[in-house]
Formats: sequence, C-alpha cells, structure tokens
Amino acid sequence: MHGYSDQNLEALGDAILAYSADRLKLDPVPLDGPMTLAELDAKAGQTITTGGIGGLAALKLFEEDLALACISTDHPRYLSFIPCAPTEAAAMFDLVVGASSIYGGSWLEGGGAVYAENQALRWIADLVGLPPEAGGVFVPGGTIGNLSALVAARHTARMTAAREARTGPGARPWRVAATHGAHSSIQSACDVMDAELVGVEVDDLGRLTGAALREVLVANGPETFFAVVATSGTTNFGIVDDLASVAEVCREFGIWFHVDGAYGGAGLAAPSVRHLYAGVEHCDSFIVDPHKWLFAPFDCCALLYRQPALARAAHTQHASYLDVLTDKPDWNPTDYSVGLTRRARGLPFWFSLATHGTDAYRDAIERTLEVTRFAAEEIGRRDYVEVVREPDLSVVVFRRIGWTAAQYQEWSDRLLADQFAFVVPTSHEGETLTRFAIVNPRTSEDDISAILDTMA
Ligand SMILES: *Cc1c(COP(=O)(O)O)cnc(C)c1O
Repeated sequence: MHGYSDQNLEALGDAILAYSADRLKLDPVPLDGPMTLAELDAKAGQTITTGGIGGLAALKLFEEDLALACISTDHPRYLSFIPCAPTEAAAMFDLVVGASSIYGGSWLEGGGAVYAENQALRWIADLVGLPPEAGGVFVPGGTIGNLSALVAARHTARMTAAREARTGPGARPWRVAATHGAHSSIQSACDVMDAELVGVEVDDLGRLTGAALREVLVANGPETFFAVVATSGTTNFGIVDDLASVAEVCREFGIWFHVDGAYGGAGLAAPSVRHLYAGVEHCDSFIVDPHKWLFAPFDCCALLYRQPALARAAHTQHASYLDVLTDKPDWNPTDYSVGLTRRARGLPFWFSLATHGTDAYRDAIERTLEVTRFAAEEIGRRDYVEVVREPDLSVVVFRRIGWTAAQYQEWSDRLLADQFAFVVPTSHEGETLTRFAIVNPRTSEDDISAILDTMA
C-alpha cells in the first residue's frame, strides 16, 4: 500500500506479532465485556478517515478500545453457549493462513492447503468410521454444514425419485425429520430450502430413536422425506440420539441419514464416551465444528460425506470462467458445500493436530469430560443447586433452587461485571436454569467450585 515505507511495514509487523504473542500468553486472558454503541462511539469514534490513521494507531485503537468490548471466549470461566478455546498452535497458525493469500476453493490454486485439510478431515472420518472414499470440506460453521448436507441429500433424493419415476417430473421429497431438540440451524436450513421440518418425539432419555422415527415416517409417507437429522450431542444438554436404531430405519426406507455433531462430535475421540455414538458409522453425512470442542479458532466446521460424488453433483457451480477447474478430476473443496470462494479455514486445525498429535486431542477432550463430571458431582453435594439431567458429554444444566429468572440474570450480570466468570441463564420446558459448557481444558475443578460458591 502506498504511503507505507518498508520501515513502517516492519514496525507494524513487529507490533502485530508482539500483540498476538502477548495475547496468547495471557493466563488467564481478561474476560472483558459488552459496551453500548454510545460507549464505543465515545471511546473509539470514527476510525476510518480519507488519509488513514496508520497501522500502529489502528492497532492501538483495537487493543485499547475495541478488544475490550469483545468477551474472550477462551477464558477458562467462559462457560456459556459453546466456548472456543483454540490451542496456541492453531491460533498462531491462523496468522500464517492470513498472510499466505491461499485460495482454498480449488486444488489448482490451493492444492497444498487442501492436501493438509483433507488429512485433518480424514482423522475425523476415521473417528466416525466412514469408508476410505469419504471426504468433504471445512465450512464456516455448523449452520452452513447442515445446510450443505441437506442440499446434497435433497439433490440425491430428487435424482433417485426421478430415476425410479416414483414422483412426477420435477416433484421431489420435501420433508426432513428431526427431534424438537435438534439445533435451530436445521429449521433455518429447511426455511432456506423451503423444506418442511417434521418433529419426532424423543424417548425418556431425550433421544431420537428408530421406533419413534419410523412412526413419523410411516404416518407422513416415507417417500416424502429426503433426510433424517440426528444429533450427536445437543447443544443445550449434550444428548446423543440413538444413532444405531435411527440408521437402521433410514436404511429401511432409503432416506439420507445426516448426523449433526457440531458440538458433540468431538466426543468421538474420547474413549470414555465413544460408546454413545454407536451407529454413527452409517451416516451419509456428518458435521463437527473444530471451533467448538476441537480447539480450533473460529470459524471452522468439518463437513463429511460418505459418498462425496453425491455432494459434488449437488454443489458444483458451473460457469464458463470456472470450466478450467470443474472439467478436471481434482478435489475442489468448493464443490462440496454452499459457497464458492473459501479461506483454507481447516489449516489452523490441521496445524495443531500435526503439532500435538491426536493423543493430545483425546486427552484434552477427556480432561473436559472429567471436569464436567466433577461439576455434576459438586452440584449434587450442595443443597442449593441440583442437576437437571446427568451429563453425557461436557455440558451440565442445573437449577439454583428457589431462584427466579430475574435472579439468574442478576447473578450472571454480576459475574461478568466482576470479571469473574461468564455463565448465562438457559431455559428448558419454560423454566429458567443455568448451564456450564466445558470445552476448554484450562477450565479446572477450582473454577467450577468458585462459580458455584457465588450461588450460595
Ligand atoms: C453450534 C451448533 C450448530 C451450529 O453451528 P455454527 O457453527 O454455530 O453455525 C449446529 N448444530 C449443533 C448441534 C450445534 O451445537
């Protein structure tokens, strides 16, 4: 950029690297917290000028004003929603990806990156138990992953229906079956696709089962469905559906079986909970967000297909300027999801896997499960709180006996204002509750006890 001498650039580079290194060394990082628009207007004001303020000034502005208005999702006491706790290796490599100007959509342009991303995808495919020809792409998040999988499912169903002349020309199955506990992104995908989401009742353990699914399919006509979505780790409770029986019913009726493991899929790497996922190996498509429980920075979702050719048929964009890419047999990640241009967003995850090895991932996930089990036990030991459902994975939902919704909110606000912890209320069946989501291996038993102390 003109106006920037080599010397200025070097100083800016040093400053950015120093800032990044310092941020990653903070232990713990400050939680920080939300500011209003008026507060930010007063602090930062107009940042973009015709002449530019210079990189060092802009960095200072970020460091002193803007960053303070962003909650640190990797703080060990950030236990809301699903935190994001990248390894230092993954976070640092994100800088490298940014500096490298890689186009991650095609093999022609980004082959080296795609090669590495595909090895990271293969590690996940092996955890799931998918065959050697399985493959996919890293997309921005579970929402796009679910949508892309469902688009592939419907395209496949339409092709099959047309081939078998089961439906009239142009007609296609339009329904998706999932539980009411399925993530909101499934409804959102159905809205985008103008598909109808049909709810299936869960069993006593809160799971989708083959028997309940079968009833819904038969009652509505199985030929009207193009996909079934099971969840391997619901976001609120961490419930894993009964994947084996669901898979069997999908096979019986020839319906695409998608497993949403955006949050919980990481548990596949943890021997202590692996049995919960029995049957996942039958899925036609699968997602997991490394930015949730696999220690990668935002934004990163691994999307896998049993038969990638089906996804390619649904997603490949055809345009004359792209013929040079699409006419080749190369692996072009962009052919497997909604979207064209893509950042090689799987690389930070790959780098960290390559750096630490997969055993370290297994151990880190087991560590978070250990702390979650401690949390459930500790809640059981205190008479003013109680667990709503015993945790299967690394989230635990619990009740502060006697509190109103307003009391939960005041407590939560105070924890953040004190820079002590970030734990928000949740709700279940109309009742306000709260919840710990533990995906950060730095979250300790002491953190859990300290937060529970504040509720006494
Ligand atoms: C978080 C989540 C999603 C959505 O993923 P994003 O990355 O936020 O788009 C989908 N399904 C489940 C089960 C999730 O936990």
